[in-house]
Amino acid sequence: TDGSSFPNGGLRATHTAGGYLAVDTSSHIFCRGDTVFIPSAFVSYYGASLDEKTSLLRSNQALSSAGSRLLKAVGHDTAGLVANIGLEQEIFLVPRDAYQRRPDLMITGRTVIGKNAPRGQEMCDHYMAPLSHATPALECMKEIQEECWKLGIPLKTRHREVAPNQFEFAPLFGSNTTQIDQNIMVMQIIEEIAPKWGLAALLEEKPFADINGSGKHNNWSIATKEGVRLMDPENVIKATGDDTAFALFMTAVIAAVNDHGDLMRCSIANPGNDFRLGACEAPPAIMTTYLGDTMNAYFEAFKNGKPASYASGVKTLDLGTDNVRPFEIPGEDRNRTSPFPYGGARFEFRSVGSAQNVSFTNTVLNTMTAEKCAEFADAIEGGAAPKDVIAKALEKSWKSVFNGDNYAEANQDMLTARGCWRIDSGVEAINVLKNDKNKKLFDSLNVMTPAECDARADIMFDHYWGTVEMEALTLIDMINQHIIPSCKKASVGDVPALQNAINTLKAALAEMHAAKDTYATAKLARVLRLETMEEIRTICDAAEEVCPAEDWTLATYHELLFLDQTDPGSEGGGMMY
Ligand code: ADP
Ligand code: MG
Repeated sequence: TDGSSFPNGGLRATHTAGGYLAVDTSSHIFCRGDTVFIPSAFVSYYGASLDEKTSLLRSNQALSSAGSRLLKAVGHDTAGLVANIGLEQEIFLVPRDAYQRRPDLMITGRTVIGKNAPRGQEMCDHYMAPLSHATPALECMKEIQEECWKLGIPLKTRHREVAPNQFEFAPLFGSNTTQIDQNIMVMQIIEEIAPKWGLAALLEEKPFADINGSGKHNNWSIATKEGVRLMDPENVIKATGDDTAFALFMTAVIAAVNDHGDLMRCSIANPGNDFRLGACEAPPAIMTTYLGDTMNAYFEAFKNGKPASYASGVKTLDLGTDNVRPFEIPGEDRNRTSPFPYGGARFEFRSVGSAQNVSFTNTVLNTMTAEKCAEFADAIEGGAAPKDVIAKALEKSWKSVFNGDNYAEANQDMLTARGCWRIDSGVEAINVLKNDKNKKLFDSLNVMTPAECDARADIMFDHYWGTVEMEALTLIDMINQHIIPSCKKASVGDVPALQNAINTLKAALAEMHAAKDTYATAKLARVLRLETMEEIRTICDAAEEVCPAEDWTLATYHELLFLDQTDPGSEGGGMMY
């Protein structure tokens, strides 16, 4: 096809426009309606990746070959490795009629203004509460699952999430290309089914201020093609006779987080994550991993050169009542504040954004781990003992293991002081793709060329400032067409300040457009979004606070967030059964 109308970051132009699709045999072909969907890679005439998939496939190959070498170095043959993922998808479902009275939600996916409703998450009463038959959300979610099952997508679980009107689905895990192609389809199906139930689905990371935003937890593990799950100690010991391979692969991941946490941060720099990372709902933009008590003690012993033998951490809980039989629980607790906790048989990248295509996220996880596998294989092939390789790598990387509360500011300061990767600005996080360290990493493992790294960064910058531009223009329209007329009608609010705000927004957009390159534009866009627009929001929200309901023409947070409080029979209740 002609490729020049897609974002390409300079990898092709209108006069060099050829784009080529080739079938990706790693992911299932499927049929939906009258259309056959064929998973494909999409590259330029010169083979440069113009898609999300080509670099992911190359990273799978890099991980498979380096990881197989490492296994072979400790005496185990394998036909290759696969990266498995399971993507938890968080969303909001809001009444469609209210959604249609929110230009910001319709155009940008998030509310750029909006006074808090009197009720938020204070009662902790939404998470895992029953999906009520009195709202359309239950039937909507059932139909989404049904539609997925028809396509062979194992979207197994559904539940309510923490914020009002927030929900989650999760599939059975599988190979990363299949899971990602399916997740893209899941997101589309969610958006298509919601209107049938009088709802609108919001996939954006932070649609509402002051209540939780949405993530896409990227559960990730590595297995051999023969089916040995390399991050599951019991499984590895059973298959190989000891814990060497398990310890090596886990150490490879810890070392990779320590060296390439900047790239992990880059891989979650979706615009919506600006408002999420660091609030007490998603782990902060500081990259560490959590091991848990048993695993921490095990690896600490390795690091200190002591004999480290893996002992199952499975515990038994007895509740002290005959009505509940004693039962087993995993060896490790859970740490929801860690961006990348170990969870028994997998790592869970928790700070990934809900709207993302997670191909690049997984490209990074695979590539950084492949580099460490190759380094360890080199050392062992050169005669080093595996336990010494592990000890040395852990010694160097131990600062990136943190088992405490990542939400506590004192801990964040401590982690920053000890030199963990911390990049607060999503725009700066994108720019790390232009570093020599990272270009070298991707290039040496044949995952992305330096030109592909540059192109990806530029596309991400353009995506960022393009998002902010739409948000700022929408805010201007909302002030002009809704907020000022409402205030005038009701004789409330600071109308001169609102008029002034429009001039401020226009001036900031003009400054952005005059910037010298896309990075500079994105940096200005971030200031506009996180500082200027936030200040203007307070003026708008103050006006909303005093404006009579009958004169306020935009849907309020109250109207958007409480399906449970909506009369099922009323218009907007969306009741259809
Ligand atoms: P949580 O309790 O963390 O919210 P869920 O049970 O909702 O977790 O989702 C966990 C996800 O992780 C599921 O998609 C599941 O299939 C996936 N998963 C479980 N084990 C593995 C594994 N070994 N590798 C990759 N993904 C996994
Ligand atoms: Mg999870």
